[in-house]
Amino acid sequence: MDSVTVCNLTVRFGKYEALKDVSFSLKKGDFLNVIGPNGSGKTTLIEVLTNLTTPSSGSITINEKKVGYLPQKLQTKKNFPITVKEVIYGGLDKIEKESTDNEIKKWLEIMNISHLINENMSILSGGQQQRVYIIRALISNPDLLILDEPTSALDPEFREGFYLFLNSLQKERNMTIINVTHDLSDTLKDNSLILYIDQEVKFFGESKEFKEFEHRGHKHVWVFTI
Ligand code: ADP
Ligand code: MG
Repeated sequence: MDSVTVCNLTVRFGKYEALKDVSFSLKKGDFLNVIGPNGSGKTTLIEVLTNLTTPSSGSITINEKKVGYLPQKLQTKKNFPITVKEVIYGGLDKIEKESTDNEIKKWLEIMNISHLINENMSILSGGQQQRVYIIRALISNPDLLILDEPTSALDPEFREGFYLFLNSLQKERNMTIINVTHDLSDTLKDNSLILYIDQEVKFFGESKEFKEFEHRGHKHVWVFTI
């Protein structure tokens, strides 16, 4: 059974078609990178997958129990009284809270924000806040993880570490991952799938085939070296 099936998905905002007839499917444990220029419909696709936007036509089937989601826009409002700890633990139920203490500690260290655990979110920089939300999305141990530009505010050293860790998580737990990214050179290149959209699907397939697709003259802004 497929993990995610998207079938003839169209999304209109008024007369504008943000997505046209998009179809693809993922198997359990697939790692999909979604790429495309600004305004090409990447976030719209993610918001349909997470039920935040209703499609105009087409269908979506998700055969996974637990979904972890990191939205693209995740600024905590200034003066909103919530701590780093509350944000992270807010993604867990009671039993999970007890069993994941050590895992949270490990993640805080990897993301270099252990010292900020009791601070208010609003004093953190954009990159630090992003790291908190990444931990929150991962810690509930989802079957399907959906990330919308997770590393956009991160320094290069964290980007690399983040994708290395994500890779090991995926292998260990056979997690299905959908990752919207701006720069393919940061993300996982081997054994990943690529969905290149610009309102409609321009390419869907393995990353190795995408390299050939680029060579056939479809070169855009993608920095992609295997
Ligand atoms: P991307 O994430 O690839 O940069 P988006 O999915 O955010 O692109 O946006 C795709 C297009 O749809 C853009 O032209 C955007 O302005 C438009 N759009 C997105 N959401 C809405 C909305 N709620 N109402 C009207 N237009 C929207
Ligand atoms: Mg977007």
